[in-house]
Amino acid sequence: MLAAPPTPLICIDPGHGTIPAIGRQTEPIGPSSSQLKIKDGGGTAGEAPVALAIALRTRAMLRRDGYRVAMTRTGRTYAGGNIERARFCNVRHAALMIRIHADGSSDSSLHGLKTLVPALHRGWTDDIYSSSIRAGRKVQSAVVRQTRALDLGLLQRSDLTGFNWANVPAILVECGFMTNPAEARLLRSNAYQSKIARGLTAGAEAFAPL
Ligand SMILES: [Zn+2]
Repeated sequence: MLAAPPTPLICIDPGHGTIPAIGRQTEPIGPSSSQLKIKDGGGTAGEAPVALAIALRTRAMLRRDGYRVAMTRTGRTYAGGNIERARFCNVRHAALMIRIHADGSSDSSLHGLKTLVPALHRGWTDDIYSSSIRAGRKVQSAVVRQTRALDLGLLQRSDLTGFNWANVPAILVECGFMTNPAEARLLRSNAYQSKIARGLTAGAEAFAPL
């Protein structure tokens, strides 16, 4: 008799919140790289609590639907870098790592929602490149459908430590701009956080069906 496949585990990584003493440290941008990058620049003002609130809502929805969920942080602070965040998801063999962030810009008119995905880098991301793009497309369209936010599409990034160390499909959703007053108001509201969480849940479930 065949064993039933395990229930997919979705790993949720609410960005930032790193305690400053650790956040200021650096870490290699990818395995055996000599290029060092700060562990956490802190993010844009107000980003860390919004990311956590959206993550907690998403966890509740995924669990209600029967998924296993692990979160890199469930409290205000985190005591690790982006390598630890990636490893946390790797060792759990996550079906998907969803990193939740919000954007900032000196141009307060900018608004909208985009999903970052790993760029192709042999030895670092070639194992997760295509699957991450597939996940990114599904999540981006589901979140835009729920929120009706401006669709800024997918963006491939080669400079994100949390992607370069990931061995599981990984995406980073920039849920909107904290520097746009109207969008920031939405991002802080329960109703809009729930819409984003519904989109993240629908996208993750489309990518990793039960
Ligand atoms: Zn961020």
